[in-house]
Amino acid sequence: MRVIQPLQWRIYLHVTLVIALIVLGSLAGSWIGRLVIIRSDRGHMHALSSQLLKRAEAVFNEADVILSKVNASDMTFCSDKELAYLRNVLFTTKYLKDIGRVKDGKFYCSAVFGAAEQPAPLAQPNITTVNGALIYADTPLAISNLSAPIIGRGNANVVLDPAAFDAFNDPAYPFGIMFSPSDEQNPIGIFGSIHKGVQTNGLTENAGREGDIVYRNQCHGQACVSLHAHVQDLEAAAFPIEASIALLGGALGGALGVILLLLLRKRLSLGTRLSRALDKRLLKVEYQPIIHLQTGETRSAEALVRWRDGKEVISPDIFIAVAEKEGLIGRLTLYVIDRVLLEMGDFLKKYPDFRININISADDLMDPRFSSLLAARLKQAGVRSQQVGLEITERSTANAGPAVQAIHQLRSQGHKIYIDDFGTGYSSLAYLGELNVDGIKLDKSFTQTVGTRSITVSIVPQIIDMALAHNLAIVVEGIETSQQQDYFATLDTSVDGQGWLCGKPADAAALQKLVV
Ligand code: C2E
Ligand code: CA
Ligand code: CA
Repeated sequence: MRVIQPLQWRIYLHVTLVIALIVLGSLAGSWIGRLVIIRSDRGHMHALSSQLLKRAEAVFNEADVILSKVNASDMTFCSDKELAYLRNVLFTTKYLKDIGRVKDGKFYCSAVFGAAEQPAPLAQPNITTVNGALIYADTPLAISNLSAPIIGRGNANVVLDPAAFDAFNDPAYPFGIMFSPSDEQNPIGIFGSIHKGVQTNGLTENAGREGDIVYRNQCHGQACVSLHAHVQDLEAAAFPIEASIALLGGALGGALGVILLLLLRKRLSLGTRLSRALDKRLLKVEYQPIIHLQTGETRSAEALVRWRDGKEVISPDIFIAVAEKEGLIGRLTLYVIDRVLLEMGDFLKKYPDFRININISADDLMDPRFSSLLAARLKQAGVRSQQVGLEITERSTANAGPAVQAIHQLRSQGHKIYIDDFGTGYSSLAYLGELNVDGIKLDKSFTQTVGTRSITVSIVPQIIDMALAHNLAIVVEGIETSQQQDYFATLDTSVDGQGWLCGKPADAAALQKLVV
C-alpha cells in the first residue's frame, strides 16, 4: 500500500483550497451577477413602460385634438377647400396617417384618399365610448392595403400611425398599448400584443411574475401599457454578463488562493527542500566545545546541525521548527546521530571519557522506536552510550508521564539527559526531580544578566543551589565575556560552560584538535 506523506497531504490540501476558493468566487460572482441583472432588468422595464405610456398619451391626445379641430371646420363638407385644409392639418401631426370625414356611418373623404366616389359604409367599431368616440383596434384601410387603428368622433376620424411605437421595439420585452375609455369599460388593445395571461379587466398599475413571465402594467389617462418578458430570454441575454462576473469572481477567488499559497509556499518549499537535503546528505554538523570552567578542560561538545542550501545559510531555529511541523524531525535526528558517529566515532572510542551531546525533539522522545534505533546505531559504531548525551527542551517534557518513562528508558541505556534552555520554559526545579534527568543547561538569557543590574541575575544562585540539591549537573550556556566566565568559574561548585568565549561551533577536526 502506498503511504501518503504529510508533505503530500499538504499539497493536496493547498490544491483543494485553491479549487474551493475558485468555486466559491464563481458562485459569489454568479450570485452577484444575477442580482445586478435582476436589478437592471427591473429598472429597464420600469423605464421602458414609462416611455411607452408617455408616447401612448401623446398619440391619443393628438387624435383628440385633431378630431376636435376637424369637427369644428365650417368649410363645405369634403369640398376641395376642406380636403386641402385636412392635408395641411395632417402635415402638422406626428402620429396620424390620415384624417377622414364621415357622416351617418359612412366614409366620404380623407386627406390622403381624397373624395370617395360613393360614400362607403363604416365597419362596426370595437368600442363606442361613453363620450361617443368610436375605437377601431385594427381596421383595413381604404388608402392602402395595410390596416391600422382608427379613432372616430362626430363627423371625423383619424388613422393612427401603426409605427408610432416602433422606436421602442425590443424583442426581449414585447408590449401592448391599450386605449382605456373610462373606468366602466375595459381597455382595448390598440398597438402591439398583450400577453394572454394579463388580465385587462380593471387594469391597474402593477408588476410581478407569473410562472416564467415577468410583467409590468401601467395606466394613465386614456392610455395603458402592458409590458412582459420571458425569464428564459432575460437569462439568455444576461448569460454573458453573469458568466463574466462569475469568471471574475472565480479569478479573484483563485488569485486569493494563490496569494495564500505563496504565503504558505515559503514554508512548504522549505520542508520539501529540507527533505531533499536530508536525502542528499547535504546537512553538516558542527561541534561546540563544553568546557569545565574551573579547569578549562574540554570534556564534551554539543553537536549542532548546519544547513547551507546553495548560497543561503538557513538557521536551525527556522528549519528545526519546519522539520517538526512537517514530520521530518525523526529523520533529521537520526541523520545527525549517523553523521556524529561517522565523524566522531573513532575519536569517541579513543577518548572513552569524552561525550557528545545531541539535541533531540519532543517527537523523538515520545517515539517508542527511538531508543532502540539509537542503541542499534551505537552498537554498530562501537560507541558507548555513556558518550552520547541527549538534550531535550522543557517543552518536550510537557507530557509528563510518557516523558518520565522515555527519559528513564534512555538513562537506563546509559545516556545522560539534559534539560536544554533551562529557565525559559515552565518546568520548576521540583518538577525536575520528578523527571529524573542528569543535568540542566542554563539558558543564555540568564548568563547575559551577569554583571548587569537585571533582577534575573539574582535567581541564578538559587537555580544553581537547587540544581545541586537535586544532584543535577550544570552547563551554563552562551558565555560570551570573561566577566560571565569568571562569575561561574568562581562558584564553589563544579560547573561546565559553553559559549563563544569558550569556543565557537566548528567542524569535527577543529574540535578534535582542542582535545588532543
Ligand atoms: P541550542 O540547543 O540552545 O543550541 C545552542 C545555540 O546557541 C546554538 O545555536 C549555538 O550556535 C548558539 N550559541 C553558542 N554559543 C553562543 C554564545 O556565546 N552566544 C550566543 N548568543 N549563542 C551561542 P544554533 O546552532 O543556531 O542552534 C539553534 C538551536 O537549534 C539550538 O539551540 C537547538 O535548539 C536547535 N538545534 C541545533 N542543532 C540541532 C539538532 O541537531 N537537532 C535539534 N533537534 N535541534 C537542533
Ligand atoms: Ca542544545
Ligand atoms: Ca540551549
